[in-house]
Amino acid sequence: MQIDHTERGIFNESHHAFREQVRRFYAQEIEPNVAAWERDGAFDRNLFRKAAKAGILCPGVPEEYGGGGGDILHLAVCYEEHGYSPAGASIDSGIDTDASAYIILLGGTEAQKQFWLPKFASGEVVGEGLFTEPHAGSDMTAMKTTAVRQGDQWVINGSKAWITNGNHLDLCLLVARIKEAGDTKPKFGLFLIDADAPGVSKGKPFQTMLRGCGNLGELFFENVRVGDDRVLGGPGASGLGQAARTLSITRTIFAARSVAACELAFHMALDYVKDRPAFGKTLFDLPVIKAKLAQVKMRIAVARAFVDKCLVAARDGRLTAEQSSMAKLWCTEMEVEITDICAHLHGAMGFSNEHPISKMVAAARGHRFAMGVSEMQLDTIARQL
Ligand SMILES: Cc1cc2nc3c(=O)[nH]c(=O)nc-3n(C[C@H](O)[C@H](O)[C@H](O)COP(=O)(O)OP(=O)(O)OC[C@H]3O[C@@H](n4cnc5c(N)ncnc54)[C@H](O)[C@@H]3O)c2cc1C
Repeated sequence: MQIDHTERGIFNESHHAFREQVRRFYAQEIEPNVAAWERDGAFDRNLFRKAAKAGILCPGVPEEYGGGGGDILHLAVCYEEHGYSPAGASIDSGIDTDASAYIILLGGTEAQKQFWLPKFASGEVVGEGLFTEPHAGSDMTAMKTTAVRQGDQWVINGSKAWITNGNHLDLCLLVARIKEAGDTKPKFGLFLIDADAPGVSKGKPFQTMLRGCGNLGELFFENVRVGDDRVLGGPGASGLGQAARTLSITRTIFAARSVAACELAFHMALDYVKDRPAFGKTLFDLPVIKAKLAQVKMRIAVARAFVDKCLVAARDGRLTAEQSSMAKLWCTEMEVEITDICAHLHGAMGFSNEHPISKMVAAARGHRFAMGVSEMQLDTIARQL
C-alpha cells in the first residue's frame, strides 16, 4: 500500500523524508518480529533504543533537549505510520514516548526538561502519564492516590491502572491528590517517580481482547518518597495545568492515527475482495460490495480533511480543545466502524487471530477509551455551545 501524502498539502520535504524513515523502521524492526513477540506476550523493551537510533523518537521535541527539532507534523507522521503498519494494532501504543515528553516539555521546569527529555529521546527512559485508577477513570475527582507533605518530602500512596507500556516503564508521570495542611479545595499535582524507586511495584499486565504484544499495566505506590524536584513545574506551580494542554495535541495526533488505520483496513479489504472468487467473478464485482467500499473511502477522505486542518492548527498554536475533541471522537468512532466493516469483508478470515484485521478491530475499541472516552469528548464540545 503506497499512499501519496503530497496532495494533502500540509507536509514539507522534511516530513516526507521522515515518513520514509519511520516506515522503514516499522518494516524492518517491528513487522518481522511481531508474531514472536505475541508468543512471548510482550514486545522487546530494546525497541525504544533502536527507534532512538533510527532517529524517530521525540521528533517534535527541540534539539536542545535531545529531540528531532521538528514540529507537531513530524509527530503526526510517526502516529500515522503506526496506523498504516499491519503490526501497529498488535504493539498497541508501542514506541510512543512523545505524549509524556510533551507533558514535561509544556509543564516542566527548565531543569526537568534538561534532565528528562534527552533520556526520552535516546530510549533510555520510557515514561507514561499515570492518571487512571481502578476506581477512577473519566472522573478525576474520584482519584484516591495521594501525595502528602512530610517535611521537605512528598509521600505517595495509591495505585494506577491501564497504563500504556506499564511493564516497560522507567518513569511514572503520576497524578495524585495533594494533601497539605490547611487545604480546603481538592488539588492535584503531577509527580515524576522512578518506576524502580522503593515502594513502587508493578502488577501483571491486563489480558485484553487484543491479544497483541503491547502491555497495559497496573502500578502500586506504597509510601513512595520524592522531593520537590519531582513535582512537575516545581511545587506550587501549575505544571499539571500547563501539561493539560498536551491532551489537545495528543488527541488530534491520535485521530490522525485512527484515520491511517482506517485507510489500511480499507486497502486490506479492497485487495481481499478483488482476489476472492465469488459467483463466477470476484467479490469486488458485486455492486453491494463496491458500494460499501465506496462509502468507506468517502468517510476516510472527509475525516482526513478535518484532521489535517486540526494538525495545521496544532502546529501554529491555534488548536482548540473543542476541535481536538471533535477529531478524537469522530475518528476513533469511525475506526471502530470501518475496521469492523473491513474485517467483515474478509469473511471468517477477518475473525482469525492470524490476520491483522482482527487485531485492528480490537485495538479500535481501546482507542475510544484512551485519552478520554467518547462521551467526555462530546461533553467538551457541548460545553462550547
Ligand atoms: C488502550 C488504552 C490505553 C490506555 N493508556 C492509559 C495510560 O497510559 N494512562 C492512563 O492513565 N490511562 C490509560 N488508559 C485508561 C483510559 O484513560 C481510561 O480507560 C479512560 O479514561 C476511561 O476510564 P474508565 O475505563 O475508568 O471508564 P469510566 O470513566 O468508568 O467510563 C465507563 C463508561 O462510562 C461512560 N462515561 C464516562 N464518563 C462519562 C460522561 N462524562 N458522560 C457520559 N458517559 C460517561 C462511557 O460510556 C464510558 O465508556 C488507557 C486505556 C486504554 C483502553
